[in-house]
Amino acid sequence: MHKTLTGKYSAPVPRYTSYPTAPHFGTHITNADYIQLLQALGEGDKLSLYVHIPYCDRLCWFCACHTKHTLRYEPVADYLEALTREVEAVSKQVSCKALVKALHFGGGSPTLMTPHDIRRVGALFRSAFNFAPDAEISVEMDPNDMDEARYDALADIGMTRASLGVQDFQPEVQKAINRIQTFEQTKSVVDAVRARGVHSVNCDLLYGLPHQTLDTLAATVRQILTLDPDRIALFGYAHVPWMKKHQTMIKEEVLPDVDQRFDQSRMAAAMLIESGYQPIGIDHFAKPDDSMAVAAREGRLRRNFQGYTDDGAETLIGFGASSIGQFRQGFVQNQTATGEYQRMTEAEGLTVVRGLAFSEEDRLRGYAHHVRLCRLVRGPEAALRASRRYGDCRSQAFRRAEHGWSRRNSRWCVPAQRNRAPVCPHRGRAVRRLPRKWQGAALHRGVNAQQLPGKSVISLSQAIGFCNRFAYSIAE
Ligand code: SF4
Repeated sequence: MHKTLTGKYSAPVPRYTSYPTAPHFGTHITNADYIQLLQALGEGDKLSLYVHIPYCDRLCWFCACHTKHTLRYEPVADYLEALTREVEAVSKQVSCKALVKALHFGGGSPTLMTPHDIRRVGALFRSAFNFAPDAEISVEMDPNDMDEARYDALADIGMTRASLGVQDFQPEVQKAINRIQTFEQTKSVVDAVRARGVHSVNCDLLYGLPHQTLDTLAATVRQILTLDPDRIALFGYAHVPWMKKHQTMIKEEVLPDVDQRFDQSRMAAAMLIESGYQPIGIDHFAKPDDSMAVAAREGRLRRNFQGYTDDGAETLIGFGASSIGQFRQGFVQNQTATGEYQRMTEAEGLTVVRGLAFSEEDRLRGYAHHVRLCRLVRGPEAALRASRRYGDCRSQAFRRAEHGWSRRNSRWCVPAQRNRAPVCPHRGRAVRRLPRKWQGAALHRGVNAQQLPGKSVISLSQAIGFCNRFAYSIAE
């Protein structure tokens, strides 16, 4: 059964960390637009801040991040000077009444920074923005960088969540991806951050890596579980050597095929669920009392460029080369090339070169993606169950909702008639009711969708179709 599905849904699709996705951004969005977006923030706005450090002292061959290999610290120090200029320029435009709920350091390897620079950058953000007392400070950590001085520096800036990439502990797999990181190294990082009061540890696992088998992955999952992480992300390795040249170092003949990937994903997810983790969205797992698991149960889960989040912030401000910001009105993206990014901070402070202003149709499609990614799928098993239950009917079901959205008087959009069998206004015959959870989404969006032109609504089912394929390709 599942082999039919994997064949059907294994085609490459966009990575929906946003809708519309980054390749749709245009160069018509500039610093002038960014200033307007920043100035519009005020009291009641919750902010999530992302800081990108695009340097690593090793280059893992599976990596798809925007990063550069460096063995010297000078480029990092120069970059941090530029980052300082950008933070100051942004903070001048943002009202002190906007409240920071989360600060995330990603990359690259933020732990490449010296302890002195970790403290300096942490203090820079604290002085430039108004932080909530319970703000989460999360840092992506490379165990190979860590020493006592760095642990202390991260504790000093108030780190609350440590995020560790693990991938797979088997030596043959690690050699094939050029990332040697023993279980003992990983455990020492977890122990050290917990000893300094960090309340949450997140581990990233990958399936679909070269030489990876069900046995190697199961062994890695068992080892990870002994670390008792609060959250675990289970991602599929995306082999895109035409985009990331260093991935050509990975031999395609030793990569698991699509059915093996499906089996690996399903097995790892089952192991995590059996161990008490709650599946979150399409690729995360959390302890039931973790704030993300609570947010998922309460329907507060969101997805942004860092993955799933429960910070409740509608606005994401990105700092550093290539960072993306998300506002109610649209997306902005900083200059990607680090040299040009640094030059722009000297000239203007801000470095936005691309972006996208939302149309009403983008909002509708974006909401459909949000529902699909944050609420409908509860892990690979649920995705499979849903596919068995609804199969091809799913797209029909959404098409029925789409008819409802396109008509002001449709029964799908009128709550008073929710309990009656709806009539498809286009075909004029009775159809089955939508599953209740989808109906809620249809009703919720129905209010605004009434103003949409018909063609916008028709394209919604295509958006949903993409979502389905994306979810299956990740889940499987
Ligand atoms: S996986 Fe992490 S440490 Fe490795 S190259 Fe990518 S960003 Fe750097």
